[in-house]
Parts: sequence; C-alpha cells; structure tokens
Amino acid sequence: MLSTPHLLVGAAIARSIPNPAISLPAAFVSHFLLDMTPHWDGSPSAPYKKKVIGGAALDYALGATIIFLISRGYPNQPIILLGAFLATLPDFISILFRHVSRLGKIGILKKYHKYHLKIQVNVRFSIGVITSIATSLVALAFLAR
Ligand SMILES: [Zn+2]
Repeated sequence: MLSTPHLLVGAAIARSIPNPAISLPAAFVSHFLLDMTPHWDGSPSAPYKKKVIGGAALDYALGATIIFLISRGYPNQPIILLGAFLATLPDFISILFRHVSRLGKIGILKKYHKYHLKIQVNVRFSIGVITSIATSLVALAFLAR
C-alpha cells in the first residue's frame, strides 16, 4: 500500500489508543494488515527509477504533512507522529534488507522479508486507489476527531 494510508492509520491508532505501549506496537502491526488489503502501490522493484523514488518521497511527505498539520496542538502529537512512522517501518526494514547485502545473511530478516512480500495483495490501479482512499478517509476521521 502507499505510504499515506499507512501513515494515517498509524497516526489514527496512536490518537485513538491513549496508552503508547499498546498503540505503538499496534501501529507497527497495522502495516501488515494494510498490506493484506487489496491495494495498488505500483509494485516497485529495484533498481528504482528516479520517478519512483520521487513519487514515494512525495507520497510520504504528503501523509506526514497531513498528520503534522491535523495533530498540531494535540498533547500527544509526538506519539501520533511516532505511530505514523512505525506504521511505515516495515517497508523501511525491507528496503534496508534489499540494499544492505550483509542483512541478507541474517535468517530472521530473510524470513521477515519473504513474509512481507508474500502477504501483499496487489490489485489494479482503479481498485487499489479506492481502497487506499477509503482507508485514508476512515483513518482521517479517527485522527481529526
Ligand atoms: Zn509493506
């Protein structure tokens, strides 16, 4: 799934569950549930073109900016931002795994990466965008309440 829905869901979880000992791990786990949801993310594969990297950076910046602006003034804004980041951390772990060859020798990371790839439910753009927008809107409703 794109970063913006992951970020928004992680932020919404951190906003909705007051105990960070519960909300932050839940935000991390939410990543896998969203990856199991039919989605479109372009299925980028290495080596990444500049256009793909730029699009991913824009996507991430969009989600992070929306969350930053909505959560301004919330007493737990740092936790909300951390929840958003943790909801995207699984992708960063996979990116590191792909690009740091020494990590490929660590068995648990190999299994993690294989699992992360296996659970993806990629669908065509027209359907995947609908699930991404719907997920984002629900998360926004929880974040902005
Ligand atoms: Zn993922």
